[in-house]
Amino acid sequence: RDTIDILGVKIDRITSAYALKKAEQMVRSDGVSTIFTPNPEIVMAAYEDAGFREVLNSADMCTPDGIGVVYAAKMLGTPVPERVAGFDLVCGLLSNIRKTGEGVFLFGAKPGVAEAAAVKLLDEYVGLNIVGVHHGYFSDNETDDIVKQINESGAKLLLVCLGAPKQEKWIFENKSKLTNVSLCMGVGGALDVFAG
Ligand code: UDP
Repeated sequence: RDTIDILGVKIDRITSAYALKKAEQMVRSDGVSTIFTPNPEIVMAAYEDAGFREVLNSADMCTPDGIGVVYAAKMLGTPVPERVAGFDLVCGLLSNIRKTGEGVFLFGAKPGVAEAAAVKLLDEYVGLNIVGVHHGYFSDNETDDIVKQINESGAKLLLVCLGAPKQEKWIFENKSKLTNVSLCMGVGGALDVFAG
């Protein structure tokens, strides 16, 4: 990996095209990979929270999401090629894997939103294989059941939309229990956007 350091957070020096290629490889490989998409708010939160910084730095890829991150990289003398927004990366990935059929699990947002997002996504990305959904308002003792649902769904791609830093920490704490998933992405409000 070719990364730069912004306030202690490792950010990949990548183009959108490269990020998409890597994400596709991750979805098709064994073991659980993680992609986070730090924007300036996330970088600032990690600056003040060593635990969150460690979680972000454990990722297999951190995309420079947000023009503020791109500017910061430039000012530090370690520019990144371009902004790679997590939302755009997800859209590209969904568009490509609908042709190969890897299952997708939508996790997060208020009850009903992931279902509505699924309906819209199936319309937009014909052939997409959505294998499960779960809302993002749960208590700690429900986590194991959610993990079980994700595992039994057979999903290869898990989109976790709990907002930062909750989604990144959830992925960090639970990825070792994911027996089928190949790629976890923390993508904030994406389900709300998909649901319209
Ligand atoms: N969210 C959730 N569970 C929570 C908190 C938030 O599922 O406990 C969802 C929220 O409904 C929204 C998404 O996380 O769909 C992103 O939330 P927010 O906009 O606050 O975060 P950001 O995208 O700014 O990181």
